[in-house]
Amino acid sequence: MSDKRDYYEVLGVNKNATDEEIKKAYRKLAKKYHPDANPDNKKEAEAKFKEVNEAYENLSDPQKRRMYDQFGHDGPSGFGGGQNGYYSYTTSDFDMGDLGDIFSSFFGGGFGGFGSRTARANNGPTKGADLRYDIELTFEESFMGVEKEISISRLENCEKCGGTGAKAGTGVETCKTCGGTGKIKQTQGGFFTTYRTCTACHGEGKIIKEPCDACNGKGKEKKHVKVKVNIPAGIADGQTVVLRGEGAVGSNGGPKGDLYINAHIKRHHLYERQDNNVFCEIPVSFTQATLGADIEVPMVDGKKEKFKIPEGTQTGTKFRVRGKGFKAINSNYQGDLIFSVVVQTPKKLTKEQRELLVELAKTMNEQPPVKKRGIFG
Ligand SMILES: [Zn+2]
Ligand SMILES: [Zn+2]
Repeated sequence: MSDKRDYYEVLGVNKNATDEEIKKAYRKLAKKYHPDANPDNKKEAEAKFKEVNEAYENLSDPQKRRMYDQFGHDGPSGFGGGQNGYYSYTTSDFDMGDLGDIFSSFFGGGFGGFGSRTARANNGPTKGADLRYDIELTFEESFMGVEKEISISRLENCEKCGGTGAKAGTGVETCKTCGGTGKIKQTQGGFFTTYRTCTACHGEGKIIKEPCDACNGKGKEKKHVKVKVNIPAGIADGQTVVLRGEGAVGSNGGPKGDLYINAHIKRHHLYERQDNNVFCEIPVSFTQATLGADIEVPMVDGKKEKFKIPEGTQTGTKFRVRGKGFKAINSNYQGDLIFSVVVQTPKKLTKEQRELLVELAKTMNEQPPVKKRGIFG
């Protein structure tokens, strides 16, 4: 388990906080703990600052927030693994991200401390795009877990040039105009330094002399690929499985993006899920209900469980078969199957049955008393 502090606690907001509240709390704390604002206890402030940043990074992104709410710090690691492994949280050190405007308001316009964002070359390693896939599962698949093969299209490195974008046998040169940064420095009025995109290399920082003819020099191509997905037993509607590194290829040596698989569970004609319990209705004959009986109750996995219902069972009475519900993700807990009895009144009787019933009726030929009930009884 993680010994990290809860992200909500770090930001001092509650679990239902709006995006606006999260942002506000973050801004306040980022200012407070910014290392440059705490020259006397820089180390401690830096640790706090990182913690606050990480919390914000995860709570400000709706997808990440959902994952966090669902699985906590450790991610859905208990899914049993697969060749891909599942999502875990990572934080790049001091990513400026949304902080630019905070810094400018706090430091009077100038960036201090960290490498200035605007001066950073835009041709550094960049993570590939995350992809999203909606998968439809049957109730039984969500109950037992299933391995699925899905087809997606994603950007991959061009096979012919290996992602360089250059024709075989030709090279890639660093742009001489910008020295490889992709940006040109401009000083205006002696005060402001701004940067514009280098026109010689279009901000790439490198120049391809002869572009690869398969990808026209882009170095990447869209490919249709098949990906295996292990759906864990117990997955609920709306939950997400994340395959790390199965998204689009990164740029300039950056890591691949991730693939988010969102589960949609089809309704079942018999079963319904509530938390980890399964609910269903089981019809019994009126003689079974009256005399009591051993009945067979169908489980979600297709097996049958013997169950004894007592004599005098009424319609709507609920019985619980323990440990036959959904398996909880990330623990050994298993829910129950709860069925409610529906007593069937026979519609067609044989002559013999009818005679027997008439005899029975003579012995109890009286309408049961109508019980007085409250309005909500
Ligand atoms: Zn190519
Ligand atoms: Zn250039």
